[in-house]
Amino acid sequence: MFIPEKFKGKKGLVIGAGKSGVACANLLTYGGFKVLLSDTLPLDKLKERLKTLDGKVEIEVGGHTSKATECGFAVKSPGLPHSNPLIVKLKKNRIPIFSEIETALAFSETADFLAVTGTNGKTTTTVLLGEIMKRALKTRGSKAWICGNVGTPASMVAGKAAAGDTIVMEVSSYQLEDSSCLRPLTACVLNITPDHLDHHGTMENYISAKTKVFRFQKKNDACVFNADDAYCRQIAGRCPSRKFFFSSSRKGGRLNAWVEGGRLVFSLDGERHVLTAPALPGRHNLENAMCAGLMALTRGVDRADIQKTFSAFKGVEHRIEPAGKKRGIAFINDSKATNVDSTLVALRALGKRRRNIWLILGGLDKGNPYFPLAPLISKSVKAVLTIGAASVKIGNELKDAAPIISAGTMAKAVAVALHRGEKGDIVLFSPACASFDQFRDFEDRGRKFKALVKKIQADRT
Ligand code: ADP
Repeated sequence: MFIPEKFKGKKGLVIGAGKSGVACANLLTYGGFKVLLSDTLPLDKLKERLKTLDGKVEIEVGGHTSKATECGFAVKSPGLPHSNPLIVKLKKNRIPIFSEIETALAFSETADFLAVTGTNGKTTTTVLLGEIMKRALKTRGSKAWICGNVGTPASMVAGKAAAGDTIVMEVSSYQLEDSSCLRPLTACVLNITPDHLDHHGTMENYISAKTKVFRFQKKNDACVFNADDAYCRQIAGRCPSRKFFFSSSRKGGRLNAWVEGGRLVFSLDGERHVLTAPALPGRHNLENAMCAGLMALTRGVDRADIQKTFSAFKGVEHRIEPAGKKRGIAFINDSKATNVDSTLVALRALGKRRRNIWLILGGLDKGNPYFPLAPLISKSVKAVLTIGAASVKIGNELKDAAPIISAGTMAKAVAVALHRGEKGDIVLFSPACASFDQFRDFEDRGRKFKALVKKIQADRT
């Protein structure tokens, strides 16, 4: 565990000048430590990120020098493998290495900390839970802080959280892998499907990293699991705290949340609450809402606060997000769909019996096959419009499922879909690919899609 007092006077090494590395270097500096921020990238690649770095932080770029191994403790960037030569050297020299999130939490005045993990749906659930907690705590004059993998590093907010506040954190398997004492009062595992195996090596390692979200919990803490997910059911047996289960396919019994008559039923501690779910498409969003609702209930939140937040929640940007309509054609921005699984979720959520979807696919190929999309495409997609580097592969694998139109760019794809679409159709931008061939990141890609929709809406034709 990182205890700032224990390391007083020692120099801290922060490895990796990513967003969380920079935030952590700043936090340690404000905490009175001398800090060395070390990265292998050259300065011109880091300039943008270093803009927010405190002037007192010492930096070394383009590689790690012996200065790095002379520090008193280290904080590791979550993506860095344990086989990394610097990490190996630090371990050999018995220099303690901490995760960014645990370091951040050490500077927080509150122990009220909730953690969300899973393969899919983390951000949506974290933001929804964070909004519920904000509403619930407002009446007590306290705050909820949303952070972690959502885009605001824990190091940016943990130091601001006062006693009585709650920290709601999205934690990835990378961050969990590095933790050694993380103790959320309530945690969850939304679902587990194979992901990031290039980093974790095996499914067992990936699952083992996920179990760290509850491994250091105490008996009276709580953890929420997806009862429909075989891996979740399996790891729940290893959980030391109170266990709660939700299901979108079954009802009642020993479940603590389920779907009944289109509404969400919560059943825990002898009480039952029936709530209206947020107005978001898809069964996956019912699961996210059940998970966030259960987590809030374990913290004693009033059901009225949960209901009000559900009713006001509009979802998170770039996740099956309505981007506007033109001539009765609805445009949907699902730029966060950077893999085939996410695109499947969107097709399941929006697909009707008739073929009314113009599906824009493509970008940078991640090496996975696209043919798992074929059954749903042949059911509900009018045509697939391909863009970017993966176009040829997508065309080859899906040509029997629907007509393929090779559009090349997003602008061309939108123009073709608008020209050929009719009232009641949906143009779904759910690329199933990474964005880096044509865009900065998936956010940039999603914003450009929405800007295109705004532009065609403004056109008089
Ligand atoms: P994450 O932060 O885990 O990537 P997000 O909330 O950002 O999750 O959602 C990313 C995508 O994952 C969504 O666009 C949707 O396709 C899919 N998704 C969201 N929630 C779930 C869920 N509960 N189960 C399966 N897929 C989901």
